[in-house]
Formats: sequence, C-alpha cells, structure tokens
Amino acid sequence: MNIHEFQGKSILKAHGVAVQEGRVAATADEAHAAAVELAEETGTGWFVVKAQIHAGGRGKGKVTETGSHGVVLAKGLDKVRGIADGILGGHLVTAQTSAAGKLVNRVLIAQDVYEPGESEPREFYMSVLLDRALGRNIIMYSPQGGMDIEAVAEESPDQIFKEVIDPALGLQDFQTRRIAFNFGLTGKAMKEMVRFVKALYAAYIGCDASMFEINPVLKTSDDRVIAVDAKVSLDDNALFRHKDYAALRDTSEEDPLEVEAGEAGLSFVNLDGNVGCMVNGAGLAMATMDIIKLSGGEPANFLDVGGTADAERVEKAFRIILRDENVKAILVNIFGGIVRCDRVAQGVVDAYRNMGSIDVPIIVRLQGTNAEEAKKLIDESKLKVQSAILLQEAADMVARVVG
Ligand code: GDP
Ligand code: MN
Repeated sequence: MNIHEFQGKSILKAHGVAVQEGRVAATADEAHAAAVELAEETGTGWFVVKAQIHAGGRGKGKVTETGSHGVVLAKGLDKVRGIADGILGGHLVTAQTSAAGKLVNRVLIAQDVYEPGESEPREFYMSVLLDRALGRNIIMYSPQGGMDIEAVAEESPDQIFKEVIDPALGLQDFQTRRIAFNFGLTGKAMKEMVRFVKALYAAYIGCDASMFEINPVLKTSDDRVIAVDAKVSLDDNALFRHKDYAALRDTSEEDPLEVEAGEAGLSFVNLDGNVGCMVNGAGLAMATMDIIKLSGGEPANFLDVGGTADAERVEKAFRIILRDENVKAILVNIFGGIVRCDRVAQGVVDAYRNMGSIDVPIIVRLQGTNAEEAKKLIDESKLKVQSAILLQEAADMVARVVG
C-alpha cells in the first residue's frame, strides 16, 4: 500500500527519524492557518508548499490548470495562500503520472529547511528495500541526491552505493559509518547521519514497510540530518499487524476498477491490452498472459478469481473486465482442481445469461476435473461462447478474434 508523503513523514517521526516539520491542508485558508502555526512552532518565515499525490517528480511537475509546479517555495507567510490556491484542485502532471495528471486534494505546508548558514545544505538519496535476489534488506544511497536517481544510475553508476543487511545481525555500526563516510561527512554531520540511518532502518522494520525512498535526505547548514521527502510503501501482507494504518489508504489514488475488484475479493491489475483474462491462480494467470502475447494479442488485465469460481464471482469478474472499452475478447482459463470444471462452466453460462448480452467474443478453456462435461455444457448452452480444452487451441481462437 502506498501512502502520502505527509503520512510517511508522520510514521518516520513516530519512529524517531528527524523529518522536515509540516502540516497538511485541504484548502488555501487551511494552508495559511497551517503556516501560521508552523511559524509559531518553529520560528520559520519561509515555507514550502507540496502537492500530496501518489507520484514523485512533483518539484519538476506542473499543474495543468495553473502552470504552477507541484513543490513551491513560499518566501513569506503572505505568499502561502496564493501558492496553495495554484496547486489545490488542479491536476499535477509529473514524469511519473499519466498525461492527464493526478488531482491534488491536499498540500503539505512544510518549514523551509534550506536556509544558508555556516556550511552549504547538501542533498542525498537514500532508500531501504528488499533485494529479492539476495533475499536481504538493503540500504541504497547516493551522494547525488535531490535529483532523478534513475539518471544518476544511468550516467554515474559509481555514485550509487549499497549496504546489504544481514537479517541475523541487523544493521551494523560500521555500515552506518561507511554511509556517512561515502557522503563525505565529518564531525557533527557524520554523527547525525549515523543516527538518522539507524532510526530510518528501525522505522522500516518497525512499520513493516516494503520500501522507503527518502530523496532528498538533507544535511542542513547547521549540520542536522533530516528527511525532506518520504515515499513510503507498506507491506499489504503485514497490515493486519498495524490496524491503524488502514486509515492511511487513499482509494482516490488507486485505479477505480482495481478498488472495486478488491472489494469483491478478486485480485485484479488493469493493463492496456485488448484481451481480457479471467483465470484461477496467479501462476496460471501469468502463463495465460504470456500465451495471449504469443498469439499476437495483448492482455487487458491480470485477474485471479481465486479458488471459488462460482457464478457470482465469475459474473462480477466479467462485469469488471467489460468496463474496459479496449477489451476485444475475453479468455477464461480455469484449472479445475479443487473446483470442478463443470461447476465453473455452469457459472460462466449463468453469469452470461444474467448479464443479457455480451458483445465481445468469449473463449473458455477449462482443464482438470470434469473438463469434458464442462466443454459439453458450454457447447450445448447455445451462447456465443467458444470452448477449448487445450490452452493452445484457446490461444488460437483468441488470435483469430483479435486478428
Ligand atoms: P519530488 O519532486 O516529488 O521528489 O518532491 P520533493 O519533496 O523531493 O521536493 C522537490 C525538491 O524541492 C527537493 O529536491 C528540494 O530541492 C526542494 N525542496 C523541498 N523542500 C524544500 C525546502 O524546504 N526549501 C527549499 N528551498 N527547497 C525545498
Ligand atoms: Mn523527492
């Protein structure tokens, strides 16, 4: 589950990680009030106004309606309301959003932490994530922070470092010191960085995150180290351990079809092809997508109906797939192991009849227990459904339909 920057920062802060202080606001008036409070609390006179959407690249991104950037510095209390007004309610387009952008419902008003002083402020990159190949958590970091990390990886890969964390030993002191050293820090800044990294890793473990990306981590001019940005993904499979995190979910940031499918207990991912797939089991769903591609089609979605492919679930799945206008054919590929094929076939027939008419061709391939009976049931139903037992046969039918 992805969450907003302001929510991620509050989780980090609760775990003892130093963050740029801020307050969230949904209107320009609230933004002004937030800045007043922040000024009283921190003594700051400058603020940064940050669009809260589930996408990065906001600083360089632009709001379609007003031309404002998604992260804007307000050099004074009197500037905050106007800047917030130029961001709220608009659609922010960044390198990570679609061309339509994302509607901004909230802004974070944060304390400006870049004031010059004894030493220059410096921006670093740091992320914590699971390296699946190693089976270990890693801290990935770069002295080239603030900017697009993909570009750094491309142009100067030697500027990207990794610390691999042994699950039995945890993050070691020599590793935190090496990070600070690779950033070129000494004295107080070095100590602050060591403390920051330890707290950050403890937070990652403590909240069962699947990813933290802090870009930039800022070394301030008075040598403090704080998180200025926070991209936090929480592990869905651990949410049951953190009941309070459920409230952090923002379904307006998610694909509406995926939200609806999730409510019906279907695992569904919307894609941009033309062949809808309805499959039981994630592995079979992946194999089905492959075979659709091999047949010259493009999968329109990933959909795992799970173990109980009864009429109700099949109907729900059909309805969700058909909401996508690009779908030119639907391939139903079910393996009858626990669930018998004839029951699934009956489910398909019932769902089809319930829905009146379905305009796109449906190809059903059922294999496993009672596959022959299932094929017969479909062939005798007189519906515009083609059936197959071999996957290749089904794929050839799809190829003929999508041409
Ligand atoms: P992103 O563009 O979505 O990654 O959003 P960030 O939170 O990383 O902000 C973008 C950029 O705004 C940062 O890289 C900083 O350079 C700048 N920025 C963020 N906070 C401040 C601040 O308090 N003061 C100043 N002057 N710049 C800031
Ligand atoms: Mn950032």
